[in-house]
Amino acid sequence: MLLFHILTLFPEFFAGPLDVSILKRAREKGLIKIELLNIRDFSRDKHKKVDDYPYGGGAGMVMKPEPIFEAVDFAVGSVEARKRRIILLSPQGRIFNQEMARELSCEEHIILICGHYEGIDERVKTIITDEVSLGDFVLTGGEIPALAIVDATSRLVPGVLGSYESVSEESFSNGLLEYPHYTRPEVYRGLRVPEVLLSGNHKEIELFRRREALRRTMEKRPDLFKKLKLTELDKKLLEEMGFGCQE
Ligand code: SAM
Repeated sequence: MLLFHILTLFPEFFAGPLDVSILKRAREKGLIKIELLNIRDFSRDKHKKVDDYPYGGGAGMVMKPEPIFEAVDFAVGSVEARKRRIILLSPQGRIFNQEMARELSCEEHIILICGHYEGIDERVKTIITDEVSLGDFVLTGGEIPALAIVDATSRLVPGVLGSYESVSEESFSNGLLEYPHYTRPEVYRGLRVPEVLLSGNHKEIELFRRREALRRTMEKRPDLFKKLKLTELDKKLLEEMGFGCQE
């Protein structure tokens, strides 16, 4: 079971997303557990203050260190875990990706600290294991990145998805973007489903999917394509598509 503690000033933000679809099922099956901690509850200030003016002046407010340190202590003390990560969400962190999601899915306890306002007091960085960003843009708070991490990581926890197949072929899992999908009807507004998918020939379908995964990775994500270790079959498929010598 993977336990997430999400430290946030806005626990109500998470009502909804955690209660639908795969995350809901994973929680019901006891494969993951998500506990929300309101950072404000850890403030010892009589007004429950969690932010203050920045030393040195400047715009905006900074989240105070004490409530965050105390919330982390509480989360750490509430469960015995051999493998734990304490993640600060920050636009300055390592950019989250599928590889990191896979890494995190092997942990037992993940603490996610959501910043707000101008950010958090720098001293919080002394108690974290990772600083993680969702991408090169600035959001209002760490809640959306925390949700993205919980979702992407939980999908990779064994048993959360229906079959292993659905994880192993998903985009990024093998360095490739996933092949295209089609469903009924066979023809819609004159657009036909590729014939091979209707053929029932599993070998041909597999080749079609590999070819299309290679094609779209090369076209859409040349950076990923460059890192691929092409098999002999891949080279042959690329040659057939007119993309020889792509290594
Ligand atoms: N002043 C900060 C800066 O320029 O680096 C940005 C603060 S942002 C408005 C408030 C909080 O949102 C951050 O402390 C962080 O927790 C979260 N946040 C914003 N953008 C993020 C991103 N791209 N990835 C992860 N967290 C982000």
